[in-house]
Formats: sequence, structure tokens, C-alpha cells
Amino acid sequence: MQAMSIGKFMARFPDEQSCRDFIYRIRWPRGFICTKCGESDYSYIRTRHLFECTACKTQVSTTANTVMHRTKLPLRYWLLVFYWIASGEKCSARKISKTLSLNYRTASLLLHKIRFGMYLGEFDALFAFWLPNSRQTPKVVRRAKRRLLKKADLFIRKHYRRVTKANKQPYYYEYRFRNNNQFDPANAIDKLISFGVTTIYTFHEYRLRRSEAF
Ligand SMILES: [Zn+2]
Repeated sequence: MQAMSIGKFMARFPDEQSCRDFIYRIRWPRGFICTKCGESDYSYIRTRHLFECTACKTQVSTTANTVMHRTKLPLRYWLLVFYWIASGEKCSARKISKTLSLNYRTASLLLHKIRFGMYLGEFDALFAFWLPNSRQTPKVVRRAKRRLLKKADLFIRKHYRRVTKANKQPYYYEYRFRNNNQFDPANAIDKLISFGVTTIYTFHEYRLRRSEAF
């Protein structure tokens, strides 16, 4: 299936409020739920776009505890990069920083966080080819994993060039996501958005420090 055109996409998200409303509806389809205590009563702090839980007074934004946690970037940027990736465009930090006038480090962090969204998006879809085999791994699976690993390394070399072995894993998430979704961009954008707004309870799961604002 085709994804919507970029024009339609931009028209769908003309400003930050439209993005916030959209993310809110996907994240909390049955209404706000506090990420800390699970209560649903809240008051809205209009000036700061925060929801304050009536029970525990925690203040939560629409993007708190998601891959967009504490972002200072416009939400339109996030949605746009989701859109680019889902449409199969190559997205290097260099390209993003140039197109959206961000510094390189910010663009690179943005992409890494989205890669974690890609990891969540394909969580149980295909086996993780980058993980070592166990003794029980069947031969046919070993062979398939080796093939995928080879293709993923090729993908990284072609699009990102310098990636050290220790830093490769997030790129493997990206390769797997792109590979699984290349023929269905409409579904890919749905996946990226829904996993982009999924509540993440343990941030060190992907070594994202809570204080790491950008
Ligand atoms: Zn609460």
C-alpha cells in the first residue's frame, strides 16, 4: 500500500498542536492514564501542555516516557522523520541536520531514538539476527541469520560508512525494520508512530538517560 503524499502529510500536521492531539489520541485512545500511578483523572496545564495526575500530582507531557521523552525538537520534525523512514528514504544524521537545520549531534540522537522505536516496532516479527546463536539454534536459522547479518552490514557500509562494531546494533534494528516494511510504507508509518508513542518504563533498556534532553 502507498503511504500518503508528503503534501498531504504536511497538511495533516500544520502545527505543534495538531501533532500533540494526534499523538495523544494514539497514546491514550481511551483517555489519559498517568504513567506513574495509572490513574485517569487529570487537570491540563494549558501554558505548558502538561497533564497533571490528580492522584499523584505527576506532570506528564504527551511524549513523556516515549522515545520522544523530553524532546525540545518540534514534534513535526519527529513525525517527518518517521514519514521519511517509512517511505524508504535513507536518513543519515548528516542529511537530517542539513534538511532540518539541526546540529549533527542532535540529528544523530534523534535517529538513534527512532531506531529504538524501530526495534520495538518489530519486536517479535523476525528473529534478532545480530544476537549470537545458542546450541539449540537450528542450522537453517543460523544460515538465514548469517545472510541477514551480511546484508545488514552492507546496508550500514553503504549508507553510514563509519560505524564501529560495538555501535552497530541500532543500525541492525533499522535494517530489519526497513527490510520488513519496504513494500508497505502506509503500514510502516503506522508502526513507527505507534511505537514512537509507546510508554517505555525502563529507560536504561536502551541506555537513554532520562536527563538526556535535546
Ligand atoms: Zn499519577
